[in-house]
Amino acid sequence: MTARLVLDVGGTKMAAAVVAEDHSIVDRAVLRTPVAADAETLYDAAVFVLHAALAVAAVPVDALGVGCGGPMRWPSGEVSPLNIPGWRDFPLRDRLAEEFGLPTRLSNDAVCLTVGEYVLGNSRSVGNCMGMLVSTGVGAGLIIDGRLVMGASGNAGHIGHVVVEPDGPECRCGGRGCLEAVARGPALVQWAVAQGWRPPADGEADAVRLAESARAGDAVATAAFRRCGEAVGTALAGAVALLDLRTVALGGGVSRAADLLMPAVYDAFERHAGLEFVRRCRVVLASPDAGLVGAAALFDDPWWPAVTDLLEQRSTGADHGVRTPLL
Ligand SMILES: [Zn+2]
Repeated sequence: MTARLVLDVGGTKMAAAVVAEDHSIVDRAVLRTPVAADAETLYDAAVFVLHAALAVAAVPVDALGVGCGGPMRWPSGEVSPLNIPGWRDFPLRDRLAEEFGLPTRLSNDAVCLTVGEYVLGNSRSVGNCMGMLVSTGVGAGLIIDGRLVMGASGNAGHIGHVVVEPDGPECRCGGRGCLEAVARGPALVQWAVAQGWRPPADGEADAVRLAESARAGDAVATAAFRRCGEAVGTALAGAVALLDLRTVALGGGVSRAADLLMPAVYDAFERHAGLEFVRRCRVVLASPDAGLVGAAALFDDPWWPAVTDLLEQRSTGADHGVRTPLL
């Protein structure tokens, strides 16, 4: 059996796995992301978790697929995840390719989630779908008319930086009122604390404890999840109207608080989705392993050929033509 090694880098955890040809997970390892660490410490953590997954799986691997939070240079794979300040233009793809001696491909973590959902069959019946991560950050990947959409710089799908509250909180991207600034896990906690919520038993103020409070009936904690879900549902309605999607799959931390978030997601989506084709879109929870499976699938034909197009465009200058200013 030939399998693939994969890494999923998030703002909360780094997950590595060995994924078999049938998309099953042979073995996996998980490490808390040392999110405040410098570039080399972060890199060492990534290498460590990959070796841990390889060691327990004990099967040969022929490639390394990586999903990482955006933005990034793609396909070259220098990453600058907003959630991980220690990495700015960090050459993660090249470093890992050299370290492991494997063909290595890197894409956005939400793109991997989207591909994984498709590959696992959850979105297979439709060639127009979006996978969305709502976690420490908020991102999305897009499959339109059966093709993975990467955009002009490989960063298509940054739904976290679509504005949902024009006068809302400042976003780490430099904008204001972005979905991510409202709906990322730490933003929920910050909002709840500002409204007077305190974690039970003097614990750490985090999303897990906020969820516990909400489930115990705390009004502020409940409102925090509702606010997050409403923002997600609002952004979804806009994205579905723009792109005529048939399925949206939500993954990441959202899945652990689906009971608290999804009713508000559906309410806001219903309220903002007016057109019949928008209302027809199914909003579902993604498979927990979709991101890992999708990172392995980056080596399968339909999920990378757009690179060839992009590189050809660049080499012929077609993508860098002179633009006539509108004003
Ligand atoms: Zn933003």
